[in-house]
Amino acid sequence: MREGTFSAVTDGDAPQVDVLGIKISRRGKEFMSEMVKIAEIFGKNVFNEVVMKERLPKSVFKKMKKTMEDGVELDPSIADVVAHAMKEWAIERGATHYTHWFQPLTGVTAEKHDSFISAPDTEGRVIMEFSGKELIKGEPDASSFPSGGLRATFEARGYTAWDCTSPAFLREDAIGVTLCIPTAFCSYKGEALDQKTPLLRSMQAIDGQALRILRLFGNTRAKRVCPSVGPEQEYFLVDRAKYLQRKDLIYAGRTLFGAMPPKGQELEDHYFGAIRERIGSYMKEVNEELWKLGVTAKTQHNEVAPAQHELAPIYDQANLAVDHNQMVMETLKKVAGRHGLTCLLHEKPFAGVNGSGKHNNWSLTSDDGVNLLSPGETPHENIQFLLVLGCILKAVDIHADLLRESAADVGNDHRLGANEAPPAIISVFLGEQLEDVIDQLCSTGEATHSKKGGTLRTGVATLPDLDQDATDRNRTSPFAFTGNKFEFRMVGSSDSIAPPNVVLNTIVAEAFKEAADELEAAEDFDTAVHDMIKHLLKEHKRIIFNGNGYSNAWVEEAEKRGLPNIRSMVEAIPALTTKKAVKLYEEFGVFTRAELESRAEVEYEAYSKVINIEARTMIDMASKQIIPAVIRYTTHLAASLNGVKTACPEADTSVQAELLVETSDMLSDMKVALANLIDITEKCGAMEAGMIQAHAYHDKVVPAMEALRTPADRLEMIVDKELWPFPSYGDLIFEV
Ligand code: ADP
Ligand code: MG
Repeated sequence: MREGTFSAVTDGDAPQVDVLGIKISRRGKEFMSEMVKIAEIFGKNVFNEVVMKERLPKSVFKKMKKTMEDGVELDPSIADVVAHAMKEWAIERGATHYTHWFQPLTGVTAEKHDSFISAPDTEGRVIMEFSGKELIKGEPDASSFPSGGLRATFEARGYTAWDCTSPAFLREDAIGVTLCIPTAFCSYKGEALDQKTPLLRSMQAIDGQALRILRLFGNTRAKRVCPSVGPEQEYFLVDRAKYLQRKDLIYAGRTLFGAMPPKGQELEDHYFGAIRERIGSYMKEVNEELWKLGVTAKTQHNEVAPAQHELAPIYDQANLAVDHNQMVMETLKKVAGRHGLTCLLHEKPFAGVNGSGKHNNWSLTSDDGVNLLSPGETPHENIQFLLVLGCILKAVDIHADLLRESAADVGNDHRLGANEAPPAIISVFLGEQLEDVIDQLCSTGEATHSKKGGTLRTGVATLPDLDQDATDRNRTSPFAFTGNKFEFRMVGSSDSIAPPNVVLNTIVAEAFKEAADELEAAEDFDTAVHDMIKHLLKEHKRIIFNGNGYSNAWVEEAEKRGLPNIRSMVEAIPALTTKKAVKLYEEFGVFTRAELESRAEVEYEAYSKVINIEARTMIDMASKQIIPAVIRYTTHLAASLNGVKTACPEADTSVQAELLVETSDMLSDMKVALANLIDITEKCGAMEAGMIQAHAYHDKVVPAMEALRTPADRLEMIVDKELWPFPSYGDLIFEV
C-alpha cells in the first residue's frame, strides 16, 4: 500500500520539488516528467490506507487498520461507513459498477458486475447506492464454478466475502470504471471454492507458529509474521493478426503444430537483449496500468526465447502478491490488444524453445522488520536462522510431493521433467557458504566459521573491483536459496501462485510447530536447539543438491536418495489426498479432507478438459486446414509433373516425382494418425470424469497427438509456404 509522494516545496529562490523523496529543482522536474508521472499515478486507483485515512472517520479508520494489520475480524458496524466512503471515492473517479473480484478454481479471476444504481423512486429518479452488506458479502450463483463435488449442481449458492487485507481498486477499461473488491469465495456450507481462502488460512498458520519460534529466541516485540512473495512473471508476445490465424493459439493458448524455424534460441541473443520499440511501448503502458493499481512493477527484460519477456514486481505480503499477480496477468493480456499484440501466458506456447514459468520468491518477515530467512554475515553463529533453515529443509523433504503438486498444471507438463528444466524432482540449492556450515555441523557437531565472498578482480584498471557474494547462483535448482529468500522455480506462467504459497506456508508452519513444541519444553534451550539443528540437517540433507539439476546423473542420484520424481500432473494430483496431506492441512485448518478431495477432482477434470480441447483443435486443424493444403500442394506437383512431361518429354521431372511420393506418404501417415486421434479422443471423452479418465487422456490421447504432429511438422518443411494455412513459428516469434 505504498503511495507515491509528490509535494512541492518552495525553498527561497531555488524552488524545489520533492519527487519520490528526491529533491530536484523545478527545471529538473521538467526533465523528470516521467518520474513525476509515476509519483502521481502510483496507487491512484487503489482505495488504500492513505485514501481511507483521508475519508474515514478516525475511529473507523483505526478499526479498519486493526483488522488489516492484526488480522482481527472486521467490525460489521463500520461496514456501512466504509462502503459509503468507498462508493463516493469510486464514483468521483467515474465508477458506475462494483464487483466482488474472486479467484475460483478455474485458474482465472471471476467477477459479476452490479451498478450502483438503486430502483427508481416514484418520480423515476435513481440514486447511487452501496451498503456495507454489499461490500462485505456477495452471493454469486456458484453452480457453474468448479467445486469438485463439494456441491451438487442444484445447490447453487456461493458466497463471496470481502478480504479487507487486500485493498479495493478501480479497473478502467472499455466497460468503464469498475470498483473491484477482492473477495474470498466459499460454498453455502463454508467450504473454500477458491484460491484466496486457503491462502489466508495458511498465512494464519505460519504466523502463529513462526511467532513461537521468534519468542523462543527472546523476541517479544513482534506481533505478526507474514510470508513475503515476489513472483517473476514470464510471457510471450505475438502479433495479434498472426495469432488470429492460428486456431491452436486461440483455443489452446499454445501451438499444437509447428516446425522449428532455422533459428531458435541457440545464439542466446534475446536474453536481456535490447528491447524493441514496439515491445517497449507495450511494456511502458503495462507498467503505467499496474502502477495505477498499486502494483509495484519493477523489473522488465527480454527472456531466453525469442518473443519471450519477463516482468517482476517488488515483493509484498503473500496475499497481496497473489492478487497482484492476477492483475499483472490480466493487464499483460489487456494491454497487448491495444498494441496489436497478443500475450501468451501458456507454459509452452512453442515446442523447441523455452517455456514460461513464474519464479515464486518467498521469505518470512515479522512486523518488527526481521526477515527470518536472512542469514546475516556469519550464518554459522545465527542460531535462529539455522533452526529456520533446518525446519524448511525438513518441510520440503517431507512434503516434496505437495510442493511439486502445487506447480502442476496442464501446460507445465511440457516443462517439468519433460522438454525443459526445471526438473520434476524437488531439491534445495543452498550454495557453498551454507552447505559448508551444514557440513561443519554434521561432521564435527560445531560450525566455527562461514565462508566469505572474495573480491572479484575485473582485470581492467578503470573498472572497480567488485565484492563477490559468498555464494554463486544455481539456475537449475527448483528451490534455491538466494541470499535471504527461497525461490521456487517450478510454478507455471499461467497458474495462480496461491497454491505454492499455501503449501510453503503450511509445511513450514508444521515444521516450526514441531520444533517449538520440543524446544518450549526443553530444560536447556541452548543445548536442545543445537541438537535439533544438527538433527534436522542430518536427517534432511538428502534434499540438498547444489549440482546441475538438468543432468541425467542427477535423476539417477535422486532416485538413490529416494527423492520423488513426479513427471506429470496426473501423477502429481494424488499428493493432495494422502494421509500425510490430510493430517497436515486439517491440523492447521487450511483444508478439510473434503476440500482436498474436491481440489483433486477439479484438477483431474481440468486436465481431461484441456487435453480434450487440444486434441479436438488438432483434429480440426489437421482435417480442415493442413490436409487440404497438402492435397493442394500434391495437386500442384502432379499438374506440374504432367505439364512438364507433356511439354518436354526429355526434361528431368524426378524432383516433382520424388516430392509427390514423399508428400503423399506423409499425408497418408497423417491421415492414419488423425483417424487414431479421433477414435481415442472420442473414447476418452465418453468416460466418466475423474482420475481414470485423466490418466486415459494422459496415456492415450497425448501420445496420439504427438503422432499426428510429427508428420504434419515434417510436411510443413516441404510444402510450399504460400499454401501452408497458418503462420509458421518463424513468422510468430521472430516477426513481432
Ligand atoms: P533475480 O532472482 O531474478 O535476480 P531478484 O532476486 O532481485 O531477481 O528478485 C526477484 C523477485 O524476488 C522480485 O520480485 C523481488 O522483489 C523478490 N524478492 C526480493 N527479496 C525478497 C524477499 N526477501 N522475499 C520475497 N521476495 C523477495
Ligand atoms: Mg529470480
